[in-house]
This record gives sequence, C-alpha cells and structure tokens, in this order.
Amino acid sequence: MNGCQENNFYQYDINKDNIITSICQDFLRFAEQNDYLLKEARILNSPLFDFIEGDDTRYMNSVLINRVRETKIQLTVPFRCDSQDHRRYMEMSIIPLEDDGLRFKNFLVKSEKKQDIVLSNLDTHKSIDVISMCSWCNRFKVTNTQWEEADIAVRELGLFGDNDRKRITHGICQTCSELIMTAEG
Ligand SMILES: [Zn+2]
Repeated sequence: MNGCQENNFYQYDINKDNIITSICQDFLRFAEQNDYLLKEARILNSPLFDFIEGDDTRYMNSVLINRVRETKIQLTVPFRCDSQDHRRYMEMSIIPLEDDGLRFKNFLVKSEKKQDIVLSNLDTHKSIDVISMCSWCNRFKVTNTQWEEADIAVRELGLFGDNDRKRITHGICQTCSELIMTAEG
C-alpha cells in the first residue's frame, strides 16, 4: 500500500458487507496514539460499524458509504479525531473498489494542542442540536432554504466534530415534497 509509510495517514478497505478486509500498519499506530485499544487481529474481518461510535455517526457513515457505492464516485469529508491533548482535523476519502468494496483513506490535515476547557467550549463549529434529513433524497438541511448532500452537509454543519452531540430527525425537503405532491395530484 503506497503512502502507508507516511505519518498521519491511514487506510483500510471494506468489502460489500462492510467487513474490514485490510488495514495498513499506520492505522494501528494511529489508533494507539489516540488511545484506542485496537488490535489487528480484532480489526480484520470485523464489521466496520463495530468501530464507529454513536448512532448518528454510524448513520451518517452509512449514508456516505451507500452514496459512494451508488455513484461510484469518491467522496471526501472532514472529521475530527482528537487525542487526549490534541485536536486532530482529519479528512476521510471513501473510494469505490470492485464488487462494492470501499477504500477509506484518512489524512491528518492539522493538529493543534488543546487549550483549556473554557477555550475548547468556544470552538467555532456552528452549534446545531437537531439536523433534519430528507427521507426521500437523503439530503440534509443546512439552512432554512438549502438542503445538501451528506458530504456537503458534513462540511457546512461541522458534523463529525467531537464536541457537539447532534441528533438527526427525518423529514422531507421542499423539492421532494413538491415532487410527491405533484405525483399524487
Ligand atoms: Zn428531498
């Protein structure tokens, strides 16, 4: 696997059933640095979703995964993966492979030492407690009039951040509601 020797990079592959089929060694080193107690033997052949915490984060990941499988187009989204004393701003690329497999490449974009608690509470991500998702087109509400695909919504709303717990509610966007009204009428 090219690039796995570099610091601040890790990648892993999953098959069509979301089972982890390969990981690079740096993933394990990264996991250690971030206080995860992961062992290679435990990761390989395990479901990816065993390693994703939080229902909504799992859900967002499954939306992204399904979208890459459907479109066969690579997606890149930002996320946070902090260690005890550092904020780590990461980017995750999901790349389509043969037979509905996927490759995840995660890069560290930047890392900053955490300030005290007070400062970290003033973090700049837009604070939104409830996020609306359209059940028809799977887009997310980013403003009162704007609904966006998952990758853009993750960026715009600062999802996958570590501080704010966000809840997803299901609804219907303007476009789909008009389409459905038209179809029924
Ligand atoms: Zn919609």
